[in-house]
Amino acid sequence: MNKDKLELLKNWEFKYSAYGLTLNTCYFDDETIAPKNGQDYRYARLAFMAGERHKIATDPEVGKLLKELKDDDLDEVNKRKVSLLIKNFEDMSKIPQKEFEEYTALTLKSSAVWQEAKKRADYSLFAPYLADLIAYQKRFAAYRNPQIAPYDVLLDDYEEGMTMADYDQFFELLKKEIVPLLHDVQKAKAIDDSFLYLYYPRQKQLLLMEKIKDVLGFDASWGYMGESMHPFTCGFSQDDVRVTNAYDEHNIAAAIYSLVHEVGHAYYEHQIDKDYAGTVLKNVSSGMHESQSRLLENYIGRRKKFIASFYPELVKIFPENLGDVSLEAFWAAVNVAKPSLIRTDADELTYPLHILIRYEIEKRLFNGELDTKDLNKAWNAYYKEYLGIEVPDDARGILQDIHWSQGDFGYFPTYALGSAVAAQIVHKMAEDIDIDDSIDSHISKITDYLGKHIQHYGALYPLQELLEKTSGEKFNPQYYIDYLKTKYRKLYNLD
Ligand SMILES: [Zn+2]
Repeated sequence: MNKDKLELLKNWEFKYSAYGLTLNTCYFDDETIAPKNGQDYRYARLAFMAGERHKIATDPEVGKLLKELKDDDLDEVNKRKVSLLIKNFEDMSKIPQKEFEEYTALTLKSSAVWQEAKKRADYSLFAPYLADLIAYQKRFAAYRNPQIAPYDVLLDDYEEGMTMADYDQFFELLKKEIVPLLHDVQKAKAIDDSFLYLYYPRQKQLLLMEKIKDVLGFDASWGYMGESMHPFTCGFSQDDVRVTNAYDEHNIAAAIYSLVHEVGHAYYEHQIDKDYAGTVLKNVSSGMHESQSRLLENYIGRRKKFIASFYPELVKIFPENLGDVSLEAFWAAVNVAKPSLIRTDADELTYPLHILIRYEIEKRLFNGELDTKDLNKAWNAYYKEYLGIEVPDDARGILQDIHWSQGDFGYFPTYALGSAVAAQIVHKMAEDIDIDDSIDSHISKITDYLGKHIQHYGALYPLQELLEKTSGEKFNPQYYIDYLKTKYRKLYNLD
């Protein structure tokens, strides 16, 4: 009976999500508060736990069940669930258990090595681990789908349906439009943003974060904010979403916009249909997820109206730095575009160029055109070419991001994709509601809108389908280009 089979599936989902919760809690703990010297003990057991979960994922019984369900007459939700689970099952089953455990142990170790290498600004420490991670990922991709280029297999993991051919076209367009716009901006009169980089003690920044959390509606009933080297979001369930932030005492905008960004992710996790809790429908693709964090960070967070919601508090906390700085001047400063070294601190205009560089490097690493040895030199050459800047050391160069150390390849392109998808959603949202009018002491009208039109669906639809449903149109990067051109031509008086 169909009903019995769905009940069995539910039991399996519960068991699998219980392991997921345990592992995620440990990962969050490891990134935030766990003492460094306990790593070896923790990692050995975490690798074991990941292996146990892998066994549940690849249990032949569940494989059989999914195959039977596939032929049944299912509703839309269960149909999508089963199709996603079958793909996961097949992918996982093709990777031998032992290799999977070895790989998990390697990612944990290489993350720790990356941290150390970054601290010492020495890429050579990390290079052999990067080579191993790529070798594993190439091998896994070949097990999973030998007909397709390994990098395409990985791109699809993060954004269903996206391939190198799609991204090549997308990044070509960005390069063609953004590079000349950036040159025009650089020739224009510079905007003063020096006050952003004065001394802003961490303790006082924390006070400001409380105010911004209030405006965003990120409250303790469902959200928690911790601290880590690299801000991230972890959605344990719809009503338990953890974000982290990082504080640079000489850059006040960094913590503000990291928080808004991560809360954008947090809202997605929070507003997914509660019926999807603990199921595969909670696994939203990276590009869609990023569209919601970028939307809050840039399209809402960098508006004058949003800044006005916390600016008086900000001036009150840091009168010595901002007492003489007008809202108008602060707003212009957080929207300044200029080439910089660090992706996470980059402005909206140069950000996609940071991603373009990572995409080109990953693609060439996987098709064998680039080697991990001396990859820092290739990295530096790209930064010179696209952003016109010299990279002073590996910490501010190739070692700045955590992703590769965790074995995440094919993930970066979704960041640029997310920004572009956000532009399309905002365009539609502006037709439906008055965005500036929806921002005062809170932004619930905006978060409700996103919940209803996007986030609620979870992973029920792939990106293209969801965009068509929401905006009436498939993905169209022209909205993003138009947005960037309009915004920066106006801000820098280019017309
Ligand atoms: Zn993000």
